[in-house]
Amino acid sequence: MSTGYLYHEIFGWHDTGTFVGDMPSDPGAGLQPFQNYENAETKRRIHELIVVSGLIDELVRIAPRLATDAELELVHTRDHIARIKRESSTRLGGDGGDLTTPFARGGYEIAALAAGGAIELLEAVLSGRVTTGYALIRPPGHHAIAERGMGYCIFSNLAVAIANAKAKRAGKLRVVAVDWDVHHGNGTESIFLDDKDVLTISLHQDRLYPHDTGDLDVVGVGTNINIPLPPGTGNGGYSYAFDEVVIPAIRKFKPDVITVASGFDSSFLDPLGRMMITASGYATLTAKLMAVADEVCGGKLMMTHEGGYNAVYTPFCGLFVLQELVGKKKLSDPFAHGNEYPGQESKPHERAVVDRARDLLANL
Ligand code: ZN
Repeated sequence: MSTGYLYHEIFGWHDTGTFVGDMPSDPGAGLQPFQNYENAETKRRIHELIVVSGLIDELVRIAPRLATDAELELVHTRDHIARIKRESSTRLGGDGGDLTTPFARGGYEIAALAAGGAIELLEAVLSGRVTTGYALIRPPGHHAIAERGMGYCIFSNLAVAIANAKAKRAGKLRVVAVDWDVHHGNGTESIFLDDKDVLTISLHQDRLYPHDTGDLDVVGVGTNINIPLPPGTGNGGYSYAFDEVVIPAIRKFKPDVITVASGFDSSFLDPLGRMMITASGYATLTAKLMAVADEVCGGKLMMTHEGGYNAVYTPFCGLFVLQELVGKKKLSDPFAHGNEYPGQESKPHERAVVDRARDLLANL
């Protein structure tokens, strides 16, 4: 049993410009030039912590490659791919499609490398080269829909990997995609909404982003489950959702592989979300997925990186997930102060949402 790890320094060179969080600077509106929320730091620092902690020695490095047009076209329209290419070749670059997803010259190649990296890691897991794996890729992917990018995402990395893995096996592949990013995995959902062989499960802060997606009643052909959790949900609420909905759904669906759109913006210190998962909370959720993966699909579990915007804390969330996958603990969480962040127990209004989502298991 081994754990694959995919990263390339050029992912840090995806240039999202001089923004003010998620807006362009605008002196008239008082918006002072600063950084885009989505910048290289969290990703670079996850990688550096993996190296400095020594965990890198326990991982099987897997190299990314560019996704081809044909591979991207299994998910995205030709127009979208062509526009990203065209804007990427200009002096100042372009935007993914919503004017909050900027990229500099050469952004196409980096986005195609992220999607190609997801394809490579999923194939490494499916082929048995590794049992589990984490693709630390950038730009993220789970918001991108077929015809455009949005929410910092240009290509829908995980969806591209799943679609290509299915195509390679003449459609004979059942996949679960769990999304624990604080934002709704609307892109992955929209791409597989009519696909009975892909079960998409998104746990997210209710109506955070996008504002109009992610509701419980969007079920597609019965293989889409949204769990829109209230702000403030912590380790207890997420564990309850996994125990009551996510794990039973996987057990019932019996996939060939479990995938995760892994965002660490559900952490208690993230600037973009108001959830409270800690690094050890992410490790607990990882352990739950590993256990059910052992039960139903030979342990096959792969994750692609999505959000996570606290440069100080996000690296520990990443490290803790990878430590769990490897089964070795190199470092503790210095921010947990010995007893975790308070208020982690599940609360009645959180459990009420999960209990409603549990009814969706009947669709499977
Ligand atoms: Zn996010």
